[in-house]
Parts: sequence; structure tokens; C-alpha cells
Amino acid sequence: KLSKRLKMVAGFVAPQARVADIGSDHAYLPTYLVQSGQINFALAGEVVKGPFEIAQNQVNEMNLQQQIEVRLASGLAAIELTDQIDTIVIAGMGGILISEILDAGQEKLAPVKRLILQPNNHEDSLRQWLFDHHFMIKNEAILLEAGKFYEIIVAEPSEISVSKISVPSAKSLMFGPILSEEKSEVFQQKWQKELTTLHKILERLPEEQKEKRQQILQQISEITEAIQ
Ligand code: SAM
Repeated sequence: KLSKRLKMVAGFVAPQARVADIGSDHAYLPTYLVQSGQINFALAGEVVKGPFEIAQNQVNEMNLQQQIEVRLASGLAAIELTDQIDTIVIAGMGGILISEILDAGQEKLAPVKRLILQPNNHEDSLRQWLFDHHFMIKNEAILLEAGKFYEIIVAEPSEISVSKISVPSAKSLMFGPILSEEKSEVFQQKWQKELTTLHKILERLPEEQKEKRQQILQQISEITEAIQ
């Protein structure tokens, strides 16, 4: 059974999209998308041999070799331009690794219409990368599963000219332009938890560490403002 997290990721895949799932692990997402009839073609990219072999076996066992290609490659090197991939999914990795993968494979991004990204952390760096490379955040989601918060960021190449795109605020990079507008229950929970952690850190910080204390107080006030 697909996790709630990957189900939500799947929910952002357009019908009949041609999907590359980078860092596919066991190819759960592509097999789900093809089996449910949502799409007809997917690539599963994996850089580690063990998961790559498991993914391949999984696809063979389900007899989906015609629709799902499993490739052993790092990042977007799994994609050939002839695959006509229009949607790239990168889920379950750190936000910095995701932006490094996108950065290293920029020539593969030109024909892509949608990126569906699920960073486990450093969401702000990833949003900054997207902005710097003229991707617009079209949708966002946040969920809680097994005690962990996950954010999903859906980005598309910007249609407006670069000079007209306004620079994102620190708030929108940190909290998400859409998530911080919606302020869902889960969003509030995530940042309340962060506040609790910061307050605990502050309690343990000696008075002499003025700069560090100031930094934390600043973060606390930003979060407090964002969830109001
Ligand atoms: N995408 C799945 C998910 O969201 O459940 C699997 C996430 S798993 C935690 C991360 C996977 O990414 C691992 O299987 C790892 O081997 C793979 N990975 C890490 N760096 C990669 C890279 N540069 N290219 C391809 N796969 C990579």
C-alpha cells in the first residue's frame, strides 16, 4: 500500500503525464501511477544498485516492463530527451540534494512542464533554487505521517518574463508561498512544534551567548507571525 505521502505526491501528477521518478527506491510511485491507469509511461531512476534491482524486480513481477523503465543512474542522467518526460518527481530526499540534482541536470529540464518535489528538509533552499531558475511554485501541500511532517512543492516553468517575477520574501521561502497563505491545521502543527523546540533551546542557552539567543528569538518571532 502506498504511503499517504506518496499518494499526495501522486495526486499532483497530471493524467497521462510522462513521469520520471528520480530516487525511486522500490518504484512504488511509478507502479502505483501506472497500475491505477493515471499514466502510461514512467521512468524510475535509482543511483544505488540494491534499490535499483528491487525496483526492476517489482516492475517485472507486476508485468509493467512495457510502461515502466528502471534505470541505474544518478539524478537526471536517468532521463534521455527522447523519453519526452514532462513531469519529474523527486521525493523523500533532503531539499539541498534535490536542488543539486536539478542543478546538475539542467539540460534535461527544458521540455519539463512540472516538477513535483517532496523535500524532507531545507525547503527554503529548494524554493530559492526554483526561483533562481525561473520555476514558479504552483501548488504546495503539507502532511503529517507517522509523526513526521512533509511538504510537497509543485513547480512549473514560469511563463512571465524574468524581470517581472518579484523576488520571494524570506517568509515565503521558509514557510512556502501557498502553505503560509492557507495556514492549514497541519501547517500550524508543524510550526508550533518548531516553536516548542526553539523555546527549549533558548532555555538551555547561557545568557552570555547573546548572538545565538538573538538569532533564536528572531526565528521565534518570525514563526509566531507566520502562523497567526
Ligand atoms: N522517492 C522515494 C520516496 O519518496 O519514498 C524513495 C525515497 S528514498 C529515502 C531516497 C532514494 O533516493 C534512495 O533510494 C537513494 O538511493 C536515492 N538517491 C539518492 N541520491 C540519488 C541520486 N543522485 N540519483 C538517483 N537516486 C538517488
